[in-house]
Amino acid sequence: MTEKIQTLIAGQWRDASGPEYSTEYPADGSTVARLHAATADDVNEAVQAAEVARHQPAWANLKRHERAGILHRIASGIRARGEELAQLQRLDNGKPINETRALVASAAGTFQFFAAACETWEDALTPARGDYMTMSVHEPLGVVGAITPWNSPIASEAQKLAPALAAGCAVVFKPAEITPRMAIELAKIAQQAGVPDGIVSVLPGKGSVVGDALVKHPLIKRIAFTGGTTVGMGIQRLAVEKLMPTSLELGGKSPTIVCADADLDHAVAGVLYGIFSSSGESCIAGSRAFVHASVYDEFKRRLLAGVKNLRVGDPASETTQMGPLVNMSHRASVERYVQLGIDEGGQVLFGGQRPQGAMFDQGSYYMPTVIEGLPNQARMCQEEIFGPVLALLPWSDEADLIAQCNDNVYGLASGIWTRDYKTAWRIGQALQTGTVWINTYKLFSVSTPFGGVKLSGTGREKGRLGILEYTSQKSFYWGLNEHPMPWATA
Ligand code: NAD
Repeated sequence: MTEKIQTLIAGQWRDASGPEYSTEYPADGSTVARLHAATADDVNEAVQAAEVARHQPAWANLKRHERAGILHRIASGIRARGEELAQLQRLDNGKPINETRALVASAAGTFQFFAAACETWEDALTPARGDYMTMSVHEPLGVVGAITPWNSPIASEAQKLAPALAAGCAVVFKPAEITPRMAIELAKIAQQAGVPDGIVSVLPGKGSVVGDALVKHPLIKRIAFTGGTTVGMGIQRLAVEKLMPTSLELGGKSPTIVCADADLDHAVAGVLYGIFSSSGESCIAGSRAFVHASVYDEFKRRLLAGVKNLRVGDPASETTQMGPLVNMSHRASVERYVQLGIDEGGQVLFGGQRPQGAMFDQGSYYMPTVIEGLPNQARMCQEEIFGPVLALLPWSDEADLIAQCNDNVYGLASGIWTRDYKTAWRIGQALQTGTVWINTYKLFSVSTPFGGVKLSGTGREKGRLGILEYTSQKSFYWGLNEHPMPWATA
């Protein structure tokens, strides 16, 4: 049954003012929810209300340990509704239930972490160079905008909401049009946890309308964005007009390197997980596997044996490893990339098609796909596909390998499989990526900063210092001199 949902705007649960639209379950195309899209007027209302709310004593006067208490209650609220949230996110973007459960758990962990960081972060008494005392304190930036994509809503939204609230900011959310649910549920949980009305609003709808109005609004003091590089660059251009800080978590085309001495069982499992979990709809997907020529054939044999065993199917099933892609138009884009790879001379070793069978007919499913025979320069190896498509590339010379890995506009993540720690360190230092995984892949910890280099973005999320991204520093000089300033009295 289709659910009609409302959203939280300026402290009121109501319909947004734009046209009604619906969201679909990617596994069968059925309608999940109906809601209204927001308008530029809604953006203005939410931002104005947030600006008022953030100055009210109920929020502005909270001590850090009191804000930490609210964050702890949000973490508990998420955990209390954990299974329900995981099921709702599965319906929104078709990810397998085991994956959405992990995302919900990580969101709760993010609030818990930033609660601790909020309560323990210290301002500075800086060394004075004369008869005075100097302090540097952090103040909340103000009202911030958070714009998120559809692939891991609750996790990306928690990564923005938790540090922003910890810093004392107010937050106006713009979730992806097709996956609005998690941001709306987070707003509900935040309200129940004691976040005052107006401090959090959620504006579903189109990026070109709602996102654009949010970025341009004069009272928005920061944009935390996760999404594609083209959109991120547009946001950065607008941000320059008001010298507004941004964090941009953008796309990737991450290389995974298998060295001659790698434990091949570990490497195969890591490469499979790196590209095919989340059906490849992951910014950090390890989509280019560079395998040393001396182990290439054996690696390929074991990889293909593993791919054949991957369970593509119903995201509600406990055993499914790959659900459908997020929608039909995204699947069509993945299919175009595979055809491009074939046209560029690649050979499809596995997949390259939709799975067969009645249960797949209504969903946007696609098989895990492995392609070899392409040079790193091929478009299929250069551009982000955001789907379950792996390019296998042999290598033999380390300097050439590093040059190929770095020969890409993106720099989000990379993986290295080797038994030799010196090799791992040498290659890891040479790779131009924000994260390097060694003998593992796609592990995340909220205590470790995350972000990209090159066109994968700027700024970092997570880590204790993540809170500071939502603050501005103010310096105080306290004069301690017994006499008037000598310049005026000499
Ligand atoms: P997208 O860039 O199309 O959309 C992201 C968000 O931006 C959505 O909410 C969208 O409505 C909004 N948006 C679109 N146009 C806008 C505009 N003009 N102004 C303001 N907001 C606008 O990305 P997507 O298709 O939703 O997600 C996939 C992309 O996200 C991939 O490129 C992926 O690599 C990236 N991603 C990056 C990370 C990371 O941490 N680096 C994580 C997940 C996804």
